[in-house]
Amino acid sequence: MTRWVLKCVECNVEWRLEASFDLSEFPKLYHYCRNCRKNTFHQILGKEE
Ligand SMILES: [Zn+2]
Repeated sequence: MTRWVLKCVECNVEWRLEASFDLSEFPKLYHYCRNCRKNTFHQILGKEE
């Protein structure tokens, strides 16, 4: 599992997502944001080692 640092482009909240797949292939990720309480686009800021 890799911890990815994501940032919601709507509310700018940064959070971590544990995933077994490589998110760096995606320029943007459409995912549920707990802050917005809806699906939003997320910027992938990088990997957390
Ligand atoms: Zn958000």
